Amino acid sequence: MMQTTAIVVGAGHAGLAMSRRLTERSIDHVVLERGEVANSWRTQRWPSLRLLTPNWQTRLPGHHYAGDHPDGFMPVADVVATITRYARLVGAPVRTGVTVHALRASPQGFEIRAGDDLLCARAVVLATGACNLPAIPAGACAVPASITTLTPLTYRDPGQLPDGGVLVIGASATGIQLAAEIHRSGRPVTLAAGEHVRLPRTYRGRDIFWWLQATGLLAERYDQIDDLIRARHLPSPQLTGTSQAAITDLNRLTAAGVRIVGRLGRIADGVAQFSGSLANTCALADLKMNRFLTRADEWATTSGLDDELPPSHRFAPTRVDPRSPLELNLASGEIATVLWATGFRPDYSWLDMPVRDRTGRIRHDGGVVTGAPGLYVLGLPVLRTRASTYIHGAGADSAAVAGHLHSFLSSRHR
Ligand SMILES: Cc1cc2nc3c(=O)[nH]c(=O)nc-3n(C[C@H](O)[C@H](O)[C@H](O)COP(=O)(O)OP(=O)(O)OC[C@H]3O[C@@H](n4cnc5c(N)ncnc54)[C@H](O)[C@@H]3O)c2cc1C
Repeated sequence: MMQTTAIVVGAGHAGLAMSRRLTERSIDHVVLERGEVANSWRTQRWPSLRLLTPNWQTRLPGHHYAGDHPDGFMPVADVVATITRYARLVGAPVRTGVTVHALRASPQGFEIRAGDDLLCARAVVLATGACNLPAIPAGACAVPASITTLTPLTYRDPGQLPDGGVLVIGASATGIQLAAEIHRSGRPVTLAAGEHVRLPRTYRGRDIFWWLQATGLLAERYDQIDDLIRARHLPSPQLTGTSQAAITDLNRLTAAGVRIVGRLGRIADGVAQFSGSLANTCALADLKMNRFLTRADEWATTSGLDDELPPSHRFAPTRVDPRSPLELNLASGEIATVLWATGFRPDYSWLDMPVRDRTGRIRHDGGVVTGAPGLYVLGLPVLRTRASTYIHGAGADSAAVAGHLHSFLSSRHR
């Protein structure tokens, strides 16, 4: 049996940032990783993916982007390289190839079972990621067996798809990126768009993430957000990591020839039924985008930047084809592949502790797990601020969680 003060589970950027914070506080610890460092980026992302956050924003405690393209967007390979370098930079005590199968409370703190090994620690930080599994609606099993089904975790490139039409369900960042890529391969694509977040790539000459940061939106704290549950489940913005295409919104996809339909309701007798509220859904997304742009304009005015920045303007509303079909017969041969781009969820099935709600999500207060002193979680959307959803959010989050963990250990010591 191995004993240490703290164990971090997961060597993605969040676990490594936490390791750095623990080292700063001289807290003896180990990081357990089932694969290699940055395993999710190595094994669960499609190769053409680029971060939708600009390079200058990919920062971690003790690390800033120092390359030649601060306004560029990292491809997956560069994300892997960055996180791997970071692990070395902070000297994280990572044990790779160690899958944690069980975590339970013990009189001394916690017991972790990893294969045949038993490890004990007084505190544990779960940094196993928010996107371990695809979130697929229950009705997915009604897709006819003749159709190939994929998720963003199994999708690699259009070459793996059979010939024929593709139905992409979900129009957030993943859905629009994959719909565009598959469409470029020559396959007819239908995109089912439910609630989505529309944002322009750039506005008034600045990247949208510059605006999200400058206006203070990303810094909004979890305990000051009116509807926190909603904020934590908000779809990712319709953005791609490229400044050339400027916007990959529904208008662009429609213009390119992608057919947009409403939210998938259910599949009955092989027929996919789509909501008739597509126009309303798009109008709402346009309204919310314009609301944010107004906030951005107001911030620019109060900050005295109006003369420095190009003038304020608005983008064309989303055009919805009134002939957009409400049904699609999946058994007709028109659709050969269904791709579920309906989001992701974390996998905590291995936790032997009553810390999850009925949906399987961990109950926590800003990363401090409820009802389990000494147990923490990192890397979840809006964990402590809206920035927590993104890589750079791990900096402040890990500092706060490490501070709490340190106090917990000190109080136990006394
Ligand atoms: C498609 C996609 C695009 C994204 N794009 C961006 C973006 O543009 N910008 C941005 O800032 N963020 C982006 N994110 C969000 C965010 O950066 C990721 O969710 C990020 O990977 C979370 O980091 P993490 O360290 O918390 O988890 P991960 O990177 O998932 O790391 C968790 C680690 O834990 C390990 N692990 C899991 N379970 C166990 C276990 N039982 N035992 C041992 N090890 C385990 C995994 O192998 C993994 O290495 C994106 C996410 C996705 C899915």
